[in-house]
Amino acid sequence: MPDATDHADVILFAAEHLRRGGLVAFPTETVYGLGADALNPGAVARVFAAKGRPSNNPLIVHVDGPAMAQPLVERWTADARKLAEAFWPGPLSIVLPKHACVPDSVTGGGPNVALRCPDHELARALIRATGRPLVGPSANKSGFVSPTAAEHVMREFAGAVLLPAGGGTFAPPATVPLDTVLVLDGGACARGIESTVVKPPAAIGDRVVVLRQGYVSADQIASVLGRSVDVAPPAAADSASAIAQTHLDSPGLLDRHYAPRTPAFRFTAAQWPEVLELLLDLLAALQPADGAEARACVLTLGSRSVPSPHARVAMPTDPRQYAARLYAALREADDEKLSAILIETPPSNADPLWAAIADRVRRATVTLPSAD
Ligand code: AMP
Ligand code: MG
Repeated sequence: MPDATDHADVILFAAEHLRRGGLVAFPTETVYGLGADALNPGAVARVFAAKGRPSNNPLIVHVDGPAMAQPLVERWTADARKLAEAFWPGPLSIVLPKHACVPDSVTGGGPNVALRCPDHELARALIRATGRPLVGPSANKSGFVSPTAAEHVMREFAGAVLLPAGGGTFAPPATVPLDTVLVLDGGACARGIESTVVKPPAAIGDRVVVLRQGYVSADQIASVLGRSVDVAPPAAADSASAIAQTHLDSPGLLDRHYAPRTPAFRFTAAQWPEVLELLLDLLAALQPADGAEARACVLTLGSRSVPSPHARVAMPTDPRQYAARLYAALREADDEKLSAILIETPPSNADPLWAAIADRVRRATVTLPSAD
């Protein structure tokens, strides 16, 4: 991981852009975030515009530690303190009733704000240098695959300017418009999937709810808080082939997330014998208009052979490595201009990280027509 002290001039330049209300994408241990001053409504509006994000989808606010978090909430509860002590810096976002100083646009109009302290030295150095909490939604167009490398971010936003993290002298550009995205290059993200989002009780009788699964598991949270934890149900089932059709016809209409641009389908290991047959049917339906050969890429977990002209990507069988690799693999497959991407559903076993990964795969795909 780059040492922030090697990049003091780059960080000061980025912090100045943020203080003026500009946008700076920054690395975290999960994915790259699109940073802006969380207390500046104009800067927050630029984030929604750059991402094309629906205004009711709240943004996570990034802080450099509990001291910066406390003024942003009505009450820094005992549960929040315990969670921050146990998991910060790290991939856990804590949802609490917001203080009036947090603009309504940050919380999508809702009463609660999600707070997180990233486990990445460059991210925390940027927050400290700016002296402000930073909103940091994933630095990608809304609904598509989250970026896990600076190059991914550069390709999302036209006119983005890379701020190298390799040390050496830095020659800042003369003027930077506020809607230009500066991209702080911190290499590849170690974790690779978004943070766990947890809502501890705000009132007596409330339960602890994990709103989004991630690296920090519900069991870990339960043991820190000494009480049971609910996990919000996964995204609505989408097994109907009608939805597959929507996915192909007008991707923007589907309530989806983390999705590649290429039509993407998931299948279970047990389905493998029928997958190739399905693949043929599917590809016949997806034949490119120019008469070119339809090709698919299959992301598998086991050792499977995929007939030409289709491609296979062998995904890691360790969940940590799988999580770190998933989004880059989806982007690489997207770049191949294929007719379809097929993803083997991750196993459900003792490691809770697989559940978080399966959630991302589920949202990125629809089931194969005969699946589930
Ligand atoms: P992203 O920044 O793209 O990773 O998305 C942030 C996600 O965190 C949102 O889509 C919500 O699922 C969750 N989130 C952020 N803020 C809140 C909040 N105030 N209340 C509940 N969930 C939140
Ligand atoms: Mg996102």
